[in-house]
Amino acid sequence: MLLIKDASEVFLPDGVQKNASILIEDGRIKKIGKNIGRADEVIDARGKTILPGFVDAHTHAIFAGSREFEIEMKLSGKTYEYIAEHGGGINYTVKKTRDASFHQLLSESKERLDRMLEYGTTTAEVKSGYGLDTKNEIKMLEVAKELDEKHAIDVIPTFLGAHAVPPGMEKDDYVELVINEMIPEVADRGLARFCDVFCENGYFTVDESRRILKAGKEHGLTPKIHADEFSSCGGAGLAAEMNAISADHLLMASDDGIKRMATAGVNAVLLPAVPFSLMQERYAPARKMMKEGVRVALATDLNPNCWTENMQFVIQLACFKMGMTPREAIEGATINAARAVGMENEVGSIEEGKKADLVIIDAPSHVFIPYHFGVNLVEKVIKNGKVV
Ligand SMILES: [Zn+2]
Repeated sequence: MLLIKDASEVFLPDGVQKNASILIEDGRIKKIGKNIGRADEVIDARGKTILPGFVDAHTHAIFAGSREFEIEMKLSGKTYEYIAEHGGGINYTVKKTRDASFHQLLSESKERLDRMLEYGTTTAEVKSGYGLDTKNEIKMLEVAKELDEKHAIDVIPTFLGAHAVPPGMEKDDYVELVINEMIPEVADRGLARFCDVFCENGYFTVDESRRILKAGKEHGLTPKIHADEFSSCGGAGLAAEMNAISADHLLMASDDGIKRMATAGVNAVLLPAVPFSLMQERYAPARKMMKEGVRVALATDLNPNCWTENMQFVIQLACFKMGMTPREAIEGATINAARAVGMENEVGSIEEGKKADLVIIDAPSHVFIPYHFGVNLVEKVIKNGKVV
């Protein structure tokens, strides 16, 4: 039993409770309130705030190498196409990831998970998509499995074979490979829970995405979509049609697409660190989505082109760039993110019976997360009832 005692504030689903404690037993939240009993182990939380552990609902945390050499090209206004032609872009990461051994990929990725945990993330979705052939996509997902088993963070694996067309291959042939070989093999081995696709001009069309997601569904993989990031090409609508658990990015989502997502109950996963790192003015229309009744989740999109492990920073961007309130943004980083990865019954909120995945922040209220930005406010992380 662990008692976290006398917190200045506890962030609950229906508001905050002041001067409250949390009693944890067998890794789960047993009681929340005042004078709720004793425990052998006590954490004094006076002056601090307890939040649910962050759920990062969209990451590409498994990759090899880094692409810091692109920064000056980006800053001088070079396009993504120019950078790709000059040795950068996704193909660089694909080459590095293919060349990396299982153990090298594991150790590079584990460092990122360690940092995510330090910044308060206790559950993370992680995608494949830098292998782009059967062997290396499986290698990435096996790294995800190993991390889930060995690391404190719960890793939720997503198959994203349709991230890009690998060099030297025709797109039609690659789509067939994804559908006929990769999806069945990934599903047979139980290596993924979701099937994702990069639905975008120049990547995979709505029709190709539909075929890939259908094939995934037939093999028990729930659909997710990278939708309407650079252009309004119908990804949000496809997410609704396919009953996807989430549609992600959505900077350019049409009004009709947003309405259809609301009706179908598709969660939006917004990734404000992406326009930030691309120096774009435009962010996803979070307020419009919430007004239409879409649940908004947040995530880092951690990848070599948008490298942050820090969900506090994402909350700050959600408030300052998308006009979300501190509560909306923290719910986006916790319970709504848990919904977007199908984990809402276990994690994402502080409720009796749920897993004791908690962060203690060194501040008297949750509002300090956007207010006091650019630092790590997390003092302790509790995963399954244990301080990690
Ligand atoms: Zn992504």
